[in-house]
Amino acid sequence: MFHASCFMGFCLMSTTLYRKYRPQNFSDMIGQGHIVQTLSNAIIHDRIGHAYLFTGPRGTGKTSMARLFAKAVNCPTPKGAEPCMECDVCKNITEGKSLDVFEIDAASNTGVDNIRELRETVKLPPSQAKFKVYIIDEVHMLSTGAFNALLKTLEEPPAHVIFILATTEIHKVPETIISRCQRFDFTRISLENIIKKLAKIAEQEGVEIEKAALEAIAISAEGGMRDAESLLGQVISLEDKKVTAKEVEEILGTTKHKSIEDFTEALIAKDTSSALRLIDALSNDGFDLEVFHKAVLNYLRQLMLVSIDGSLAETFSFELTSEQTKKILDFAKKTKTADVLKILARLSEVQGKIKASFIPQLPIEIAVVEITKGISSKIAPAPAAPSVPQNATPAPVAPYTAPTRSEAPRETASTPVAESPKEAIRSAQQEDTTMENGKAFNLGDVQKIWHEACKQIIQANHSLAALLPLSMPAEVENGFLTIVTKYGFYKDKLNDNTNRLTVESVFGNLLGSRVKLRALTEEESGIKVPERRSSNVPSFGQKAEPQTEKKGSSLLSDAASVLGGKIVE
Ligand SMILES: [Zn+2]
Repeated sequence: MFHASCFMGFCLMSTTLYRKYRPQNFSDMIGQGHIVQTLSNAIIHDRIGHAYLFTGPRGTGKTSMARLFAKAVNCPTPKGAEPCMECDVCKNITEGKSLDVFEIDAASNTGVDNIRELRETVKLPPSQAKFKVYIIDEVHMLSTGAFNALLKTLEEPPAHVIFILATTEIHKVPETIISRCQRFDFTRISLENIIKKLAKIAEQEGVEIEKAALEAIAISAEGGMRDAESLLGQVISLEDKKVTAKEVEEILGTTKHKSIEDFTEALIAKDTSSALRLIDALSNDGFDLEVFHKAVLNYLRQLMLVSIDGSLAETFSFELTSEQTKKILDFAKKTKTADVLKILARLSEVQGKIKASFIPQLPIEIAVVEITKGISSKIAPAPAAPSVPQNATPAPVAPYTAPTRSEAPRETASTPVAESPKEAIRSAQQEDTTMENGKAFNLGDVQKIWHEACKQIIQANHSLAALLPLSMPAEVENGFLTIVTKYGFYKDKLNDNTNRLTVESVFGNLLGSRVKLRALTEEESGIKVPERRSSNVPSFGQKAEPQTEKKGSSLLSDAASVLGGKIVE
């Protein structure tokens, strides 16, 4: 599973799928029907604007739509609003060879700007097509100078130029720019639509994959098609030609939706044993209980929303399939909002305690018992003897109420945890798991290969180049590698599924073992990343990317340098 060749295949597959299946026609676009309609009408009625602004979360089709629009406005022989896909103009744009369509990634470099040059470049007529189309991705990253240059051009755009600006962070785009553009808001793609497209891709790739596995991938992508395709690519390349839901859940570290539903139902039905059994099963199967806990909270939140108003289900359509939505709506009819709120309040308190606990499942188990039995583990007021063990005091039986945050963490106060036999069993199980998954490794092993691992990670995923010098390995336990990183957004980036898989794969490869990554911030870990780390990790930042070198168009590179950007495919 972690051979070098596999690892290379893993990268290749995940990046190629979304390119290979990028929509080439308006009818191929997944979701965004209102935008397709408006743009098609503009083409049919020949009312093309000079500046468009596409805003929305990542992976919702902004750049695909921009390329498609560039093709549709330039195709000399369109079929209605659709590009013909057969003429030279269409072919060149599809293959990224057109000299009239410029894609600039503003995220790569914001420093350079030259107003005069931009305006000169823009003035030159198109070489083959009717319009020169400038697609500026992540436009919010432009420097102030570059924004001003752009604004001047947008004020008096040459007749043959179309600007398409794309951004995930509209609030960072100056109002003066926004007001000169036709704005289109891209929405997250519904789970149903993502699953449909993934199923189609899997079929065309000749891969057999369970429906539940596709659902798990789609949910994990959170409404972004590109992430979904990228995850599918990784799953396919790792697991060969037949993929089960269980494998996908293991790879993604997610839990199956059914267990989340069952657990929630058990809590509401006050079925203590079923809920506890479920936790035990998940724990024995090696699922990350923290991930499960978060998923349950999210499900309870959804249940709370639809128990108030069923139509609020729209707000999380990218998280649930239509079957699951129907189920939660039925469930909400039988459930009191007040009960959901109480459970949410109690379960929220478990947050952050699972990994800190000697027995990871204990904080959830205590919450389950309290919720379903209507009892509280809080010790009755006894200021004179605060350390009386639980078995010496009668269990205070009271209706369940949500305790306030200021109370002491009760699982450590009331439950004897030292040398619990269950803990011993649990850690023995974990050791076994580690052995099954390859060679055992320790922090020293990780430190030895850290430099090489960083190099490989950056080669595989350049976007991690900035954060690795500000990160360090901190702990190894039961196959979990804890990496401490300086900032919260670096941690989030490391925890992002695609990035996490890359990091786990590289370390797994070098250590000859299965590695699970856990990222923490300095603050959370109490460990400070030394500044000298920065010189320890090779910097690939200055190296030109091969695909950039291949592009020969001087116009293109001019435009890119003027706008402070990098040419992307
Ligand atoms: Zn054409």
